[in-house]
Amino acid sequence: MKQSTYQQLRSHLAYLGLPAAAEALPTHLDHARQHNIGHTQFLEGLLRVEVETTEQRRWETRLKLANFPTRWQLGDFDFSAQPSIDEKLVRELVTGGYLADATNVLFIGPPGVGKTMLAVILGRAAVDTGHKVYYTTAADLAARCRKAALQGKWARTIRFFNTPKVLIIDELGYLPMPAEDAATLFQVISRRYGKGSIILTTNLGVASWGEIFSDHTIAAAMLDRLLHKSVVFNITGDSYRLRSYQAQARKQRPKGDPLT
Ligand code: ADP
Ligand code: MG
Repeated sequence: MKQSTYQQLRSHLAYLGLPAAAEALPTHLDHARQHNIGHTQFLEGLLRVEVETTEQRRWETRLKLANFPTRWQLGDFDFSAQPSIDEKLVRELVTGGYLADATNVLFIGPPGVGKTMLAVILGRAAVDTGHKVYYTTAADLAARCRKAALQGKWARTIRFFNTPKVLIIDELGYLPMPAEDAATLFQVISRRYGKGSIILTTNLGVASWGEIFSDHTIAAAMLDRLLHKSVVFNITGDSYRLRSYQAQARKQRPKGDPLT
């Protein structure tokens, strides 16, 4: 039996891998008939359905592959709690201009001041604007490369850390790094140099980087590449967690308690 034009159209859409457009076809046809919509507008509307579905799916994939520890976004950050952070600068970075020339962003400060949160917020903004992002801790990155080296996959793993537009390296300096790991980290940083941004968080000021790596030459070479094009946040102030814990404790203590 000969197929109707409508059926042919549906099977073309399915054959071309446009399932959302195929599914939307009957309603879009009805709508076009009822409102006397022209061919161009009809086709644009139908294909837009497919484009939007694809965009949504790609965004979800990017978000999943980004490996963020949580789904923090800019609105979750309380700037009033951390006056040492330049809010205007954070808001500007969220728009993603720094990605074009592979500028790095460093968050330096003691535990609990929001370094990981800010790194994830910037990463999430990059995902939302269509970029590939990957989050890792410095310790995980080193462990993964070490394991890969044993399996003969070191080069591939280094390439993996080179592919995303933004690589977040969290918690540098929490654990001291053996020379081999420092060399790996240096490889990752220098290969990305000038090509893709790194967002790095650390509890150690740059002057103390020699302590993390025990090798001052490598520390200096890493800093040289990281800082060449960079935005640095030196966060001073109290731990957010500690502060909210203290506020909670104050509330729970009876009035007139001499400790408050
Ligand atoms: P760091 O990485 O500097 O140790 P985190 O980013 O992990 O700190 O923050 C510690 C905790 O405090 C997290 O639960 C985070 O959501 C919260 N936090 C820190 N700073 C802020 C802030 N300014 N506004 C809201 N939550 C914050
Ligand atoms: Mg952290």
